[in-house]
Amino acid sequence: MEASRMTITALNNKRDLRIIESPEEMHACAAELIGQGQRIVFVPTMGYLHEGHLSLLREGRRLGDVLVLSIFVNPIQFGEGEDFSLYPRDFQRDVDLARSVGVDIVFAPDVEELYPPDFATYVEVGGLTDTLCGRSRPGHFRGVTTVVCKLFNLVRPRVAIFGQKDFQQLAVIRRMVRDLNMDLEIRGVPIVREADGLAMSSRNVYLDSGQRRQALALVESQRLAAALVAAGERSSAAIIAAVRQRIEHEPDAVIDYVQICDGDSLADVEVVTSNSVLLVAVRIGKTRLIDNHYLFEEIS
Ligand code: AMP
Repeated sequence: MEASRMTITALNNKRDLRIIESPEEMHACAAELIGQGQRIVFVPTMGYLHEGHLSLLREGRRLGDVLVLSIFVNPIQFGEGEDFSLYPRDFQRDVDLARSVGVDIVFAPDVEELYPPDFATYVEVGGLTDTLCGRSRPGHFRGVTTVVCKLFNLVRPRVAIFGQKDFQQLAVIRRMVRDLNMDLEIRGVPIVREADGLAMSSRNVYLDSGQRRQALALVESQRLAAALVAAGERSSAAIIAAVRQRIEHEPDAVIDYVQICDGDSLADVEVVTSNSVLLVAVRIGKTRLIDNHYLFEEIS
């Protein structure tokens, strides 16, 4: 007991990094840290880290004593025919990047450990998941909320950090935490973009150079929408039509949805207000990309 306590203290002082694979070990480690009065901050990811993930981790580093990153490609949030087996993975590179931003613990459980064969319990948020990605990816958010709930129980953070890139996911997780009286704070971090504006995503590696160029239609259509709003347009239908036209200009782009929603309830809005968000999901070839922004804000 005393020895392992010293290990954890040394780990925090030297900013060394510990890799934990077993859920039991993660649970025991969290209990010990909490017993020592340490404040745990948590960033859940599916790995293949990029600057977007690193901005969440840098924010996390500021907010607590022990920064935990999870890397877990969660099979139950992928639908039939989606890219679970193809999803990019590079654990060693992720660990090096995690170390560079001061992560203390990388939690990387095996699928079989989180989902034993008789696993049968799911967390499902209603309402908010009936629209947007929830409509086009049935079961996706049930997979997300189930794994995030499990990870919260294992890591026991005071704060967990999510990206606004996955706008609906952030809203759904906030609702889960509120509805189930979970005892932690959820923080959202702004979208990190490439120099040309494309929202960073692990899936961007799927794009060949022509598709990569076409993918700019997502951010360009968002800029177009922001310009229309700045010029006084308030009709969602008119803005959506202009956005669709811009995206459909690209030969390989197939729109999944273009919606303008209230930033809290995610209900579609007819007249744009300062709380309205434009959300788009587009397939470029086989790659599904999402983006969003508040229509009254400028895009970085
Ligand atoms: P993922 O690994 O794709 O599941 O993402 C893990 C977390 O990183 C989620 O909270 C995402 O919203 C967040 N994230 C992914 N891409 C970005 C980005 N470009 N900017 C900010 N956060 C992001």
